[in-house]
Amino acid sequence: MQNLLSELKAIVGSAHVLTEGDLSAWTQDWRKRSHGKALAVVRPASTDEVAQVVKACADFLTQHPESGLSIVPQGGNTGLVVGSTPDETGRQIVLSLQRMNAVRSVDAANLTMTVEAGCILQAVQEQAETAGFWFPLSLAAEGSCTIGGNLGTNAGGTQVLRFGNARDLCLGLEVVTPQGDVWQGLSGLRKDNTGYDLKNLYIGAEGTLGIITAATLKLYPLPKAQLTAWAAVPSMEAAVQLLGLAHQHLGASLTGFEMMGQFALSLVARHFDNLRVPLFQESAFCVLLENADAESETHARSQLESLLEAALAEGCVTDAVVAENLAQAQTLWQIRESIPLAQAQEGLNIKHDISVPVSAFATFVTRTDAQLAQAIPGVRLVNFGHLGDGNLHYNVQAPVGQDAAVFLQEQEARVNQIVFDAVLAHGGSISAEHGVGSLKVDHLSHYKSPVALQTMRAIKQALDPLNLMNPGRVVRLSA
Ligand SMILES: Cc1cc2nc3c(=O)[nH]c(=O)nc-3n(C[C@H](O)[C@H](O)[C@H](O)COP(=O)(O)OP(=O)(O)OC[C@H]3O[C@@H](n4cnc5c(N)ncnc54)[C@H](O)[C@@H]3O)c2cc1C
Repeated sequence: MQNLLSELKAIVGSAHVLTEGDLSAWTQDWRKRSHGKALAVVRPASTDEVAQVVKACADFLTQHPESGLSIVPQGGNTGLVVGSTPDETGRQIVLSLQRMNAVRSVDAANLTMTVEAGCILQAVQEQAETAGFWFPLSLAAEGSCTIGGNLGTNAGGTQVLRFGNARDLCLGLEVVTPQGDVWQGLSGLRKDNTGYDLKNLYIGAEGTLGIITAATLKLYPLPKAQLTAWAAVPSMEAAVQLLGLAHQHLGASLTGFEMMGQFALSLVARHFDNLRVPLFQESAFCVLLENADAESETHARSQLESLLEAALAEGCVTDAVVAENLAQAQTLWQIRESIPLAQAQEGLNIKHDISVPVSAFATFVTRTDAQLAQAIPGVRLVNFGHLGDGNLHYNVQAPVGQDAAVFLQEQEARVNQIVFDAVLAHGGSISAEHGVGSLKVDHLSHYKSPVALQTMRAIKQALDPLNLMNPGRVVRLSA
């Protein structure tokens, strides 16, 4: 291994092959549930360096198959399924893309920008805005997650109902293959039917098929106005009814529809003194709506008000506020985005990132809540999510007074089975937007079609026969 490390130092420079000191920023996952050990953290600065590093590792593994060497690509390390950190063997290289953070170009006429994989999402949004455009991918981790990680996980976030997932915002990729070759696919084309869609193979592959080094992203015109409303809704059925009304009234201007359960909001109120959470005490759920209007603020406001009037008349909303200004809108979004942090402060819980068709949402929640309450009396549910996309973060917290760690140890398997069986019964997915990583890889054998799994294995085997890239994540080669 020393020879390999010397070779890697020659490629990226000694300062960028880290083997000593505190490497926990790269080896520990965001939720601090997994603590790995890296052979080295390697930080290349260009696509050519990434290619050379991968080639050196592939050659080494071919000559020394017993070494068990492999590569874990890493961006901002904000992933929630333990896919970007090494295991405990000390035989994995963390390949961090953080130094590759240049915006290569903005093509205003083509409405695209090409950025390197290590660009922080928020920086991409800001650069797009400086150029007069909107890059609408948005998630609470945007201050530290990277475009490479967003594409690697096919991230969702808050604007999916209008703009789709990260996949839908990407027109081209540059990828280093597991052999160390570079696939130059930064086309920026909206139409290209010349065979298999390679780009979409790499997107959502969580670093198991290759390393994304750059991407060409879609841009949109900046809206004239972005208005945010907060509505109290009496039930999940009412929230779904409100979504239908919002589609009818706002059409393509509806860019966000987030649902938050009362308990989730009570945690924000408890743990964030600076945030005043509106309307949640009297209502089972609250909904955050965003209307991005191409015409004017007056138009946006009148559209939103007419939607809320209709919703109040139909009884699916009991009370509502429309943000008066940007600061108020930001506070409402901050409340929504503080839920993951508030629940972390409350103590560990059993997290699920599931999706079901919007039409099955209310039944899923009612039935699964009841099943869990029967199985574990007093259990608390931290429900929130992107209802507009049928995506729910359905998290299960210990009953009051019970130790969170003990609860996890004793109940996680049982709770997962109840929730995942219910997801399957309602035609849903056990991972809506966070991916599979290590956390869900074993669940897939039960909850994904055998034909799909076999096809995934065949793809992995064909593209990465050495199993060099992020092994054991997403799909295991042996059944
Ligand atoms: C507070 C918080 C809120 C979040 N909210 C959301 C949300 O709303 N929606 C959502 O979808 N996710 C959300 N996430 C999860 C996470 O932010 C996303 O999965 C994000 O896309 C990960 O980006 P990253 O750069 O941190 O990737 P990492 O965590 O570094 O990596 C994630 C996966 O992608 C692979 N990968 C990383 N870079 C590359 C590359 N260049 N080429 C190939 N593979 C690569 C890794 O190997 C790993 O498997 C949230 C996380 C946090 C902490």
